[in-house]
Amino acid sequence: MSLRIVVCVKYVPDATGDRHFADDLTVDRDDVDGLLSELDEYAVEQALQIAEEADDAEVTVLTVGPEDAKDALRKALSMGADKAVHVEDDDLHGTDVMGTSLVLAKAIEKTGYDVVIAGMASTDGVMGVLPAILAERLGVPQVTLLSEVSIEDGVVKGRRDGDAASEQLEAALPAVVSVTDQSGEARYPSFKGIMAAKKKPVESLDLSDLDLEAEEVGLEGAWTAVDSATERPARTAGTIVKDEGEGGKQLAEFLASQKFI
Ligand SMILES: Cc1cc2nc3c(=O)[nH]c(=O)nc-3n(C[C@H](O)[C@H](O)[C@H](O)COP(=O)(O)OP(=O)(O)OC[C@H]3O[C@@H](n4cnc5c(N)ncnc54)[C@H](O)[C@@H]3O)c2cc1C
Repeated sequence: MSLRIVVCVKYVPDATGDRHFADDLTVDRDDVDGLLSELDEYAVEQALQIAEEADDAEVTVLTVGPEDAKDALRKALSMGADKAVHVEDDDLHGTDVMGTSLVLAKAIEKTGYDVVIAGMASTDGVMGVLPAILAERLGVPQVTLLSEVSIEDGVVKGRRDGDAASEQLEAALPAVVSVTDQSGEARYPSFKGIMAAKKKPVESLDLSDLDLEAEEVGLEGAWTAVDSATERPARTAGTIVKDEGEGGKQLAEFLASQKFI
């Protein structure tokens, strides 16, 4: 039977863009370009490598995000994933990590899976907890933050590198895995891959398809709330030290005044 791999990928605001908060203190996602979270490219890469090793495997990429999140799915499809699932619903506005994990769990159960692969953290929220919450919701083992991962005979094995030691971990499938940015360079989509991605299926789901009510997600269903947010002050011009014989002294005085030394 085919090994069913689901990869969770997030569409994130471009960090080089000008990002703002909306009036309700959520991130204004309409005003900024987005892209596939770079850390999730590692998850797609590991899924593709596992699929290449397996006799028979299917890689589905899944995102919860706005209309433009399709761009992230297309990128993953052009890297080589077989199909995509996009959960989009106006009522998702303001959904926090608890709501996102609930929606992902429902979509993963509907799609069917043997292993779920996620990134180590998104590049915008950077909580790094979603894979663990997802495993709990699905009621399956979690093997997180792996720098090396393989699947053989229904068992996922991997190495987690810590500061003082490396652990070898394994779990019987079905399971949730997350991989780090040390797991191996993500491939670039080839021209053939980009053309092929245009024809690959992208399934769209909304909350009703997942038997979810609006109040379970969105700002209403969120377990967390943002009380206030302040935009970072504009950058100042900085201090230029001209060396006219006393440059070193002036530098040291500046560093001391800023309590760096
Ligand atoms: C339209 C919209 C509005 C939102 N508004 C808010 C808000 O107002 N406040 C708030 O706290 N959160 C909001 N979220 C959710 C938030 O952006 C995160 O998806 C969620 O909180 C998870 O946190 P994280 O990104 O830090 O996850 P992490 O734990 O850092 O992510 C780890 C991994 O989980 C997977 N993952 C994370 N998010 C997604 C996703 N959306 N789809 C697929 N895989 C994913 C990726 O593989 C990622 O590498 C919103 C999301 C959407 C789609």
